[in-house]
Amino acid sequence: MSPSKTNKNVPLALFIFPPIYDFAFFDLFVKPFSLLRLARSFETAGYRIKIINCLDYRDHESIQSLGNPKRRSNGTGKMMKINIEKPEALKRVERVFSRYGILSKEIKKRLGEEIPDIILVSSGMTYWYMGVNEVVEAAHATCPEAPVIVGGVYASLLPEHCKRATGADYVVSHDTWGSLSAICTRFGLPDRLEEQKTIFIDDSIRDAACIRINRGCPFSCDYCASEMLSGNFKKGDADEVFAIVEEIHRKLGTKNFAFYDDALLACKEDAFLLFLNKVADSKMQLSFYLPNGIHLRYFDYEIARMMKQVGFKELRFGFESSDERFHQNHDMKLSPSNLEEKITIAKDAGFTSGEISAYILAGLPGQYKEEVEDSIRHVSRLGIRARICEYSPIPGSALWEKSICDSSFPLAEEPLVHNNSILPMRWDGFTYRDLEDMKDLARSLFIRNSSREA
Ligand code: SF4
Repeated sequence: MSPSKTNKNVPLALFIFPPIYDFAFFDLFVKPFSLLRLARSFETAGYRIKIINCLDYRDHESIQSLGNPKRRSNGTGKMMKINIEKPEALKRVERVFSRYGILSKEIKKRLGEEIPDIILVSSGMTYWYMGVNEVVEAAHATCPEAPVIVGGVYASLLPEHCKRATGADYVVSHDTWGSLSAICTRFGLPDRLEEQKTIFIDDSIRDAACIRINRGCPFSCDYCASEMLSGNFKKGDADEVFAIVEEIHRKLGTKNFAFYDDALLACKEDAFLLFLNKVADSKMQLSFYLPNGIHLRYFDYEIARMMKQVGFKELRFGFESSDERFHQNHDMKLSPSNLEEKITIAKDAGFTSGEISAYILAGLPGQYKEEVEDSIRHVSRLGIRARICEYSPIPGSALWEKSICDSSFPLAEEPLVHNNSILPMRWDGFTYRDLEDMKDLARSLFIRNSSREA
């Protein structure tokens, strides 16, 4: 059945959150935050809105065919998947490759229900572009008249590759509002698009939603893309974010909220702390999470106490390394010696050791396994969990050129090999086997700490 138009007077904007192709995927609050913000802007400009979330783990048809993925009560968990043949660029990696998300035929079915006037596709990691390809191709095949626009992280970091690989009609890599308005004008569609203070409320965020207060980060670490993607740090508005949380909670009953901020605690007295006070006053019973680490530098007792009071279930610190030289060379964050003091503050505020963890960056160009091992042992000795965060080379970041030079993978030509799961910067001083050992070490020390605490 070919798609039909149901209401010619009000244009339809279709937003697609693509499936993910990877060696492993755990949905740690992977929600369409930016897409829903954009959708609200289109709605305000006079469009009807439709969302296809390809990571919808509740999709009935996909569950029937692929099984029910194991989920947690906080809205995170596994995703239904199909194992597929590895693309040529990843053939040498001895791991199973999968497509995560709802069935392709379900995406096509939803695309075919009604002809949209414009289709907007988001993109995440550069190495996830196969999912973007899939939905752009399906959109073109099903709705050939509608312009297909790709935006998001991959589109911003590699706009030319995105245009070439996905075949999208337009790739928006900067000046989002100006670019989208110009495209709408060209197609005779409503074009008064402006950033809105709220987001489009979609049922896909019923179990868990993501929010953000501040934009960007005041730091400029060699291994990060925050500045390229978000520009200079901009303090957010506590009232606006509280209004979003309150609206989502009221309309959907959502209780779990994860912060997407790169620098949640920066300027905290004028933003995050005000937000926490509003939540405390509201008496809403919510749970908050931190998939991105928070800065040790800005963490103090007052913030810890309020976070505990309003329902933060965990603290994840961006620690990266116990080696002073690492920080002198790459990020100028706080001295590693400050971690112990911050853990004491967190515990004084009521967080248990099991609720506190620190991210350790592994697999940077030229990094030795021993440095990562020392960092894991350092963090574990302090009684908290060490979480390994594998390095992914990011186009345009300060370490990008060195990464291209040092890697045995063709980073400049093929974004699939930016995938942190394959350890793109593996070398004799830090092999893939070493990475597995480091993960085992972190796991075993965490279990030992937990059993001691119990
Ligand atoms: S502190 Fe974190 S978010 Fe900020 S630039 Fe460094 S890695 Fe990126």
